This record gives sequence, C-alpha cells and structure tokens, in this order.
Amino acid sequence: MSDHKIETIRVHRILIPGKAVHSHGIGDVAGIHSVILELVTDTGLVGWGEASPWPAFTGTAEGTVAALHSYIRPLLQGADPVQVEPLMTKAEAVVVGHPEAKAALEMALLDLTGKISGLSVSELVGGRARESMGLSFSVANPDFGKDLEDVATMWDDGVRIFKIKTGFADHAFDLMRLDKLRGIYGAEADLRIDYNQGLPAYDAVRCIQDLEAFRPTFVEQPVKMHEREVLAQITHQIATPIMADESVFGVREAMYGVQIRMADIFSLKVMKAGGIRRALEVGAIARAAGIEVYGGCMFETGLAHAAGAHLMAALPELRLECEFYMSTYYASEDILTEPFPVRKGRVHVPTGPGLGVDVDRDQLAKFAVAEVLG
Ligand SMILES: [Mg+2]
Repeated sequence: MSDHKIETIRVHRILIPGKAVHSHGIGDVAGIHSVILELVTDTGLVGWGEASPWPAFTGTAEGTVAALHSYIRPLLQGADPVQVEPLMTKAEAVVVGHPEAKAALEMALLDLTGKISGLSVSELVGGRARESMGLSFSVANPDFGKDLEDVATMWDDGVRIFKIKTGFADHAFDLMRLDKLRGIYGAEADLRIDYNQGLPAYDAVRCIQDLEAFRPTFVEQPVKMHEREVLAQITHQIATPIMADESVFGVREAMYGVQIRMADIFSLKVMKAGGIRRALEVGAIARAAGIEVYGGCMFETGLAHAAGAHLMAALPELRLECEFYMSTYYASEDILTEPFPVRKGRVHVPTGPGLGVDVDRDQLAKFAVAEVLG
C-alpha cells in the first residue's frame, strides 16, 4: 500500500500525421491516432499511458476513449496506483476486449508506481536483462523509390534490420523489392517479411516459397488472423521461420498457438496483450514451448514505445530484436519532451523512474482531436 491516491483521470485523443502513407496487407495508415491516459495523484504525481489502436487490427480510438472514460475511470477514483494487478483484474472484468485501453491503464499505473518507488518499469516487472535492442524499420511505402531513399538514410544511421510489408500489391512487386534490397545491401541486411494477413490461404505456401530465395529471417502473418490452423500448416511446410502477429493477442491465443504449433515465433505487443505484464505472460508461454518472441508495436508515439522497450528489457531472451521506429522515422512529430532514444540502429531502454519519459503538454494540445458528439 502507498500513501498516494489517484485523484484526476484525463483521457486525451490525438492524431499525429505520418511522414508518409504506409501500406499493409490489411490497409493503409497515414498517421498515429492514439489515446493518452493521464492519472494524477493527490500528491501531485502524474502517470502516463497510451493506447494505440488500429481499426483494421485491434480496435478504434473512439472505442478506446469510451472504454477508458465510461467504464475504467470509475474504478480508479481514489485508488492506490501501486495495486496494479487488482486494478487490472477489475478493468478486465468491467469491459471485455479493448486491450489497448487496458495497456494504457497498466502503463500509467506502472509509471506512477515507478515514480513512487524510484524504480524503472522494467525493474518493476522483473529487471533489465538488456539496455538496448536492435531496431527494425518497416518498408511499407507504396512508392518504393521513397522507401529506398529512407532505407539508405537509415543504413547510414546504423539500421540493419528491415521488415518488408508484402501482400498489399501484387506478388511481382514483393519479389522485385526483396531482390532490390538484397542486391544493394547483401548479407549484412537482416530482411524480414510481413504479409499482415495479405495472402489467400490456398496459395500462401507457393508465394512464400518464392520469397525464400532472398533468405528472409522470418515471414510474418501470411494469412488471416482467424485462419490459425492454416498458419500452423504453413509453419509445418515452410523452412523459413513463420511468425504469428494478428493471430496471437494474449495468453489464450498463445496457449492455442502452442497446442497446434501455430508458428515458430510470436510477435509480442503491449497493445495486443493488454499491458506489459500480460505480454510477459505470452512470452512465458512461448518460451516454455520453444517458440521465439519478437518486439512488435503498433502506430505509436514515443510514450508507448517506452513501455514496449521496458517490456523487451525484461524478457529473459530476445534474439529477434524490436521495431519501435515510429517516433523516430515515421511520425512527423512526437509528444515526448525528449526524443525517444534510438541511436546507431538501436533502441535504448529509457532510464529513470517509471517509464523514464515525459509528455510535453504543448504537443498534446497541438495534436488533440476535438470531440464532436451529436
Ligand atoms: Mg505485423
């Protein structure tokens, strides 16, 4: 028990334009549409959390606002922020789904708990097994010429991991881009492929086999999220490791994924699992089954990236690195007071109590979306 009580709960909806449109198998994204949760204690401490839904994948910002404001807020008034699990259990019981809203809640509670205890979030959830992770950038611009320019700039910055988003145009376009990137950067480039559910099940194996010639490190989510048995069949037929992203949100899908050996890798995301600690539970299930994990994210600001970095720092093993590139290489601006720490192709886990980052209120106001109801 702490001497702090949650007194004020604010929900901000923001929209930050991206530098470019990014295309994926399930649709295009032109910016970061997030919901920021602000918890203020009676002692004047502020805890920050972010929900970053994607309508085609996890949910909507509008729905997240309703989940946080109408359903979760009443649980928090006067609550002790260090009681993270009891509050999360209540939030999970009062509103079904909405994992991003629950992720924002847990983030803000852990941020406050860290500020109260003087510990970083990664230390609160188990400790820091690493201080930095390699950064993956997603090649997803329908204008491939622009992507080639961006990749060249990032290569100079030290980025060596690139995830090519496939399945949003035709197969020949995917083969051409992989051929080009492998040709320019050779074996030093760590190339991955993400279909974002973009392949039809009946032809998925043949398409993936064509791409294997370019030695991708893994192929992510080739088929629809609910085609889990098809994903398992692909995993059994393809030598290149297959990663489940949309097909594994939380512990229940992870359990089923282990039972049918759905994939060789699970993508861990704070937004899918409904918080850092739930994502660690997914990671524990994967580890027990010999399934690798990867540090995924949604279209987020540096605030949610900080939570993701603390999650990745706390994992016992992480070989496939992470993708927290949005605030550095995608968003036109961010809401943090200091840039999210990406240097020489690596994401550095923020230090300092809580999430170790702070929100710039002017930026929050600049990108606020006015609520128009009725
Ligand atoms: Mg993905």
